[in-house]
Amino acid sequence: MVNNLPVQSLVHKDITIEGYSRAAVQTYWRVPEWKLGFDLGAHPWSFMGTPNWFVSHGHMDHVVGLPVYVSRRRMMKMEPPTIYMPGAMIEPVQRILRLFNRLDRGRMPCTLVPCEPGSEIELSREHVVTVSATKHSIPSLGFVVWERRRKLKPEYQGLTGAEIRDLRLSGTDVTHELRIPRLAYLGDSAPEGLDACPAMYEAEVLIMEVTFVAPSHRKDKIHKFGHMHVDDVVERVARFHNEVVIASHFSTRYSTPQIERYMQRALPDMLGGRLRLWV
Ligand SMILES: [Zn+2]
Ligand SMILES: [Zn+2]
Repeated sequence: MVNNLPVQSLVHKDITIEGYSRAAVQTYWRVPEWKLGFDLGAHPWSFMGTPNWFVSHGHMDHVVGLPVYVSRRRMMKMEPPTIYMPGAMIEPVQRILRLFNRLDRGRMPCTLVPCEPGSEIELSREHVVTVSATKHSIPSLGFVVWERRRKLKPEYQGLTGAEIRDLRLSGTDVTHELRIPRLAYLGDSAPEGLDACPAMYEAEVLIMEVTFVAPSHRKDKIHKFGHMHVDDVVERVARFHNEVVIASHFSTRYSTPQIERYMQRALPDMLGGRLRLWV
């Protein structure tokens, strides 16, 4: 195994969340079990096998690893990946891929799919990804991964197994779809991005940016640039119903001890122990 980039990881129920994110440095996340990842600010060699990727926006530290990823999969004879991104990114990314093709003479096979707030992507029978608007300095998106389960409709719940079987055989659809928000990815955003998508607060796991933590850093300026301050989290403490919240994308102007100290001071019980800091 080649370790070319830092990766942190966490197991929650049936999934592993792997990733790393620092503002202006690099951001990349994935859930290998679900065959999907978020952002391509760099690409750990070990992430290559994940075939579906969602890019939140076009800032360099979230997308510059895209050509490397596409090219590595081709070299390793893997299927071309599918990469979802804001519609405005498609044409520039296609041009970048063509230019890399000229430079290194390697083909860049991949499917680039535009998405917009409200888009719904059926990844598999079990999983759907929904797309929401976030607020950043350029077009940007957040994503929620939902698990779909078939559940018996309430009107049939008192019936016996044989009765349900007979209904099924007669062509009646006895189930309806139940969607469970399993994981949300905010990307880079001012707090409006969270507030505009209630599922972000309900998802079992939320991956959230908290770029600024020092009390002296001005929130109006931070919001204007499309980022979050830890005080924004404090203001919304009661709204986070998530089982795990991963805070990341901290600014490089803070050292690790500073981040830990400021976060603990602002959120002494760390959202009842649910908050993880990925520095
Ligand atoms: Zn960023
Ligand atoms: Zn950004």
